[in-house]
Amino acid sequence: MTKIVLRNVEKHYGPVQVLHDCNLEIRDGEFIVLVGPSGSGKTTLLRIIAGLEHITAGDLYFDETRVNDVDVGDRDIAMVFQNYGLYPHMSVYDNMAFGLKRRKMAKDEIDRRVRKAAEMLNIAPYLQRRPRQLSGGQRQRVALGRAIVRDPKVFLLDEPLSNLDAHLRVQMRTEILKVHRAVTATAVYVTHDQVEALTMGDRIVVMADGRIHQVGTPDELYDLPDNRFVASFIGTPAMGFFDCPVAQAGGRAEAKPAAGRIRLTGAQGSLLARNGRDKVTIGIRPERLSLAQRDDASADVLLEGTVDAVEMLGAEQYVHFVVEGGELTARVPREQQVRAGQKVAFRAEAKHLYLFDAGTGATLR
Ligand code: ADP
Repeated sequence: MTKIVLRNVEKHYGPVQVLHDCNLEIRDGEFIVLVGPSGSGKTTLLRIIAGLEHITAGDLYFDETRVNDVDVGDRDIAMVFQNYGLYPHMSVYDNMAFGLKRRKMAKDEIDRRVRKAAEMLNIAPYLQRRPRQLSGGQRQRVALGRAIVRDPKVFLLDEPLSNLDAHLRVQMRTEILKVHRAVTATAVYVTHDQVEALTMGDRIVVMADGRIHQVGTPDELYDLPDNRFVASFIGTPAMGFFDCPVAQAGGRAEAKPAAGRIRLTGAQGSLLARNGRDKVTIGIRPERLSLAQRDDASADVLLEGTVDAVEMLGAEQYVHFVVEGGELTARVPREQQVRAGQKVAFRAEAKHLYLFDAGTGATLR
């Protein structure tokens, strides 16, 4: 196990800067997920940890040792990629044994490790097959097995499940976590899929545009996003947002939606007053909204809008509706009839609103 620390890490390709001032501390034995849209710098960060990319500025430590200039081969890491990287002409057994043979490990120790990993991954019956005689899921298990047998201090996984179908992906998520628990290595896992991040990560690193936006547990990111980007990226269906006028008067502030009403909590009112702007970006998670009557006097938050689209998902439906200043989504039981074009009112509790600076997108705190 190894603690991995990045201090002010930057990466340039010629004039293009792809990583900006990245700071991160990955704990011993932790399963950490780097997540973000395509091009956000996840793979570059992973390759820097691996030693496959040179760091332009900043420092990388494995435990207390600075490893900026330590070769890939000397870092005691194992990598698993999306495209498996198996040798097609070798059996499953030989694919898994290859790295160990090259290190001149004793034959019986190699055999013990390969069989143990094969048991763990349910591929023991296929050890004599060639990769092309396996399904995608089985191939990915072989790739994982090849990493496990090395007994590395650090596992690096780059979108390992993205070639698999949806059903198999869900199954393999659990398997990878099981393997991680069994081998107790520090694991860094790259994905663009926030569901994968939420379900797998001890902690998650949200990246965009070459920057780390937030690091936290799945609960922390979901409940307390630092900014609008994290709020919108984590969670399905995604949080909806709208810009709402704010009336500032004598140190007090109120949110005044164009159609409906918002009674903020005292603490929220103070945040808006301190923010001082004449508008605020409000975010609401879809599960916090429910259909209401337009004259509902009991609701803290009542918002009127027009249904834009309805997505039917079986047990429930996602209702997307347009309000002045933005668009919100609500999860609605399927018994409730809602149609595109319909005028609707939704209610929520004030404590479930997220407030963001309308200019910077930072969460008001
Ligand atoms: P992600 O893994 O999040 O999709 P990457 O780390 O692969 O993102 O890429 C981050 C950015 O760096 C992208 O804009 C990409 O085009 C750029 N990039 C990656 N590799 C190179 C390279 N060898 N030369 C120039 N730009 C690169």
